[in-house]
Amino acid sequence: ASTWSNVPAGPPDPILGVTEAFKADKDPRKINLGVGAYRDGDGKPYVLNSVKKAEDLLRASNPDKEYLPITGLPELTKSATQLAYGVDSVPFKTKSIATTQSISGTGALRIGGAFFARFYPHSKAIYLPVPSWGNHTPIFRDSGLEVRGYRYFDKKTVGLDFEGLKEDLKNAPEQSIVLLHACAHNPTGVDPTPAQWKEISDIVKERKLFPFFDMAYQGFASGSTDRDALAVRLFVSEGHQIALAQSFAKNMGLYGERAGAFSLTAADPDEKARVESQLKIVIRPMYSNPPLHGARIANAILSNPGLYGEWEAEVKGMAERIISMRERLYNELTHTHKTPGEWGHIKSQIGMFSFTGLTSPQTKALAERAHIYMTADGRISMAGLNGKNIDYFAESVSGAVK
Ligand code: PLP
Repeated sequence: ASTWSNVPAGPPDPILGVTEAFKADKDPRKINLGVGAYRDGDGKPYVLNSVKKAEDLLRASNPDKEYLPITGLPELTKSATQLAYGVDSVPFKTKSIATTQSISGTGALRIGGAFFARFYPHSKAIYLPVPSWGNHTPIFRDSGLEVRGYRYFDKKTVGLDFEGLKEDLKNAPEQSIVLLHACAHNPTGVDPTPAQWKEISDIVKERKLFPFFDMAYQGFASGSTDRDALAVRLFVSEGHQIALAQSFAKNMGLYGERAGAFSLTAADPDEKARVESQLKIVIRPMYSNPPLHGARIANAILSNPGLYGEWEAEVKGMAERIISMRERLYNELTHTHKTPGEWGHIKSQIGMFSFTGLTSPQTKALAERAHIYMTADGRISMAGLNGKNIDYFAESVSGAVK
């Protein structure tokens, strides 16, 4: 018998499974709203012009393919922290942010999880919002942390369960770790308001919780990278030490290039150096050093004022196209098709995703009858909608609900 005859088949990934079903469907009307990648107005993957120009510059400089240091491209780790924390933040100004390049946002979370498992001096429990991005639980569990949940989403209002959130954070044991989506919460598209963030910051302080931010969508929520960094910057200015996972997958469209960063704010440059030395020891046996090309692209954009300006405009353009799709979907559902129910959340939700409130049987019916694919929790990627398919989508949803 084979050595692996006892290995059971694992379940398919719930999100990638949607893409497979979509690919197998031959109907020309088919729509894939499962995957979290931006699509342009023609439904096509979009390579940003700023990225193409950065690649042209790189090619012209004829770079080598040597290994990066363990913590990645030094210029990128600096520009990434500047983008997130802002030039005026105290830890940035005092050079006290321990940072490493990471294999996109997932890798940043994984390095963070491993570092907490090894060095966090208190309870190794991390609280995730319910629901959260599906990969958070396995990432932190595999890192050796104990995963727990705090209430986040209220199915009845299709909005934030702020009372539940506050109660659960207040009841969490002191010094637990709490994962916060910095902006554009995935999968719900529901973010706290600035005033609610302040209250969350107060509770985190009072309970001595450790805030771990996942910022996979900086710029994607509002169209402004500064505005989307509000929660991170508020916590830092309120005196919290934070952990931060950053990704350039969405805001630069660098998905497969795997460019990101993980950082921890430290008390001073000496502590920062000690923390970075241990980050290296965590990373070296995992993958030795990070990939080069995406890091060079991201750094070229962040460090060249011309490219930076163009990139900012493109991020804004992506966010605005999504916002316009929200408006249009809301109007079609409520006015054109008189769809039963309240659909205001489609407009108020933020970022790439919308939690439609469609039930699992409705999503199944949409796939079978209308060739429209989404995750069973009713989450749709707004970026998959465009001028050509949105009428058909609204009509089909309306039919599924009636
Ligand atoms: N965090 C959240 C909330 C996400 O939605 C994603 C991607 O969908 C990620 C992290 C990580 O993405 P990546 O590893 O492609 O940067």
